[in-house]
Amino acid sequence: MKTNNKLVVITGASSGFGLEMAKEFSKSGYPLLLLARRIEKMQSLNLPNVICKKVDVTDKEQFETAVRDAEAIYGKTDLLVNNAGVMLLGNIASQDTKEWKTMLDVNVMGVMNGMQVVMNDMKERKSGTIINVSSIAGLQPFENHAAYCASKFGVTGLTRVARGEMSPFNVRVLSIMPGAVQTELLSHTTDQNIIDGYKDWQNAVGAVNITANDVAKTIKYAYELPQSVSLREIIITDTMQDS
Ligand code: NDP
Repeated sequence: MKTNNKLVVITGASSGFGLEMAKEFSKSGYPLLLLARRIEKMQSLNLPNVICKKVDVTDKEQFETAVRDAEAIYGKTDLLVNNAGVMLLGNIASQDTKEWKTMLDVNVMGVMNGMQVVMNDMKERKSGTIINVSSIAGLQPFENHAAYCASKFGVTGLTRVARGEMSPFNVRVLSIMPGAVQTELLSHTTDQNIIDGYKDWQNAVGAVNITANDVAKTIKYAYELPQSVSLREIIITDTMQDS
């Protein structure tokens, strides 16, 4: 079924920011393609005009097939939010190198995969928006974040380059850099001391009130500005976050 709004593709829609974006965009009637590995979490949202696909963003072929199948139903992608990501905190001297590779693969290669899938059509149509979810850790260092910072500085950098490449084609390429927000993200870190230290810091400064839904609404706001308006980089944190 076709709707008036154009197709929005959201990666990492099974929890956190992505799941809240799915709910917010759906409320406004956008047809959605939701991508993540835990398909049941996306399906259980029971949203109308939504296609949920089990996709690992590091697999470009799988990613592209899902997008093309959804575009056959809803038309070309007008917004891609590259949101899927992992944060496995660790000290560079001791962290398992597999964790570095996972972060760089998902957080950087996954984003680039998504961009390449939609960019050429957007260039041709001279319209479209790509929003990459970086992090405040893509702008400044944090303890035990070496590989995560490497991945998110990567997202910040590649987004800046792509913005320059796409602006002559009237395509917006934005990044959003959130500070700490409670989601499942921290739970995948394998070092319990680091998890505890992170939570202690968050509680000590009181950076606990901003929600995933606040981030989702901000992304939707940036998208819904006119195509001629590019909110290039958005830094969003809890008001109480001090760094
Ligand atoms: P969550 O852990 O709640 O969500 C992460 C999402 O990414 C999940 O839906 C997960 O789905 C998906 N994902 C992870 N790996 C893959 C993969 N290989 N292929 C497809 N999907 C994948 O975290 P957040 O909502 O907090 O994180 C969303 C983004 O925001 C991330 O890029 C994160 O780095 C960034 N961010 C988060 C901050 C925070 O404090 N929460 C701060 C700054 C940035 P599944 O496991 O089902 O595949």
